[in-house]
Amino acid sequence: MPRLLLSPLSALDRGLIPAVAEGIEAVLPLTVELATLPVDPEEVWDEERGQYHSTPLLDLLVKTAGPGEGDRILGVTEGDLFIPILTFVFGEAQVGGPGAVFSLARLRPTFYGLPPDPSLLIERAVKEALHEVGHTFGLVHCRNPDCAMRASTNAGEVDLKRATLCSECARLVG
Ligand SMILES: [Zn+2]
Ligand SMILES: [Zn+2]
Repeated sequence: MPRLLLSPLSALDRGLIPAVAEGIEAVLPLTVELATLPVDPEEVWDEERGQYHSTPLLDLLVKTAGPGEGDRILGVTEGDLFIPILTFVFGEAQVGGPGAVFSLARLRPTFYGLPPDPSLLIERAVKEALHEVGHTFGLVHCRNPDCAMRASTNAGEVDLKRATLCSECARLVG
C-alpha cells in the first residue's frame, strides 16, 4: 500500500499524531509513517501578511521528502496559512499530486477566545487531514454536508462535517 509520510513541522499536542494517523488509515488506502523532514516553515513566512504561504510550503515538503510512486506527504503546522487570494486557508493540497499541508492555528478554540479543548482540536485535525489528503487522490469539493471533502470556511463548518467520506467520494479513492 502507498505510504503517507506524516510530517509535523513543530512539536504537536499529545495524541494528535496517532489520531490523525488512525483517522486517515480508517478511510484512505494509505499506510501512515511518521517522518521528520527538515522543512522550516519560516522559509515561507510572509512579513506583510504575518502568515505562512502554503503553496511554496507544499513544494518544500515534496522536494524534501522525495516521495516514491503513490506516496503522499502531509505536513502539519502551527503556523497560520494563506494563499494570496484568501484571508487564510485551513490547508492546501496538490490535487492529484503528492503534497498536502494543514494548519492547527484556526482549529484551536483559543484562536476564537474560547477555552482550550484538546479533543475538539483533535477531531478537527483529523477532518482537515482527511480533507487535504483526499485532494491528493484527485477529489474535489463535495456538496454532501457531512463529507470530509466539503469545503469549510470557518471552524463551525469543520465541526459540521464527519471524519469520513461520503459514498460518492469513497468510490473515487478506490
Ligand atoms: Zn479543499
Ligand atoms: Zn463527498
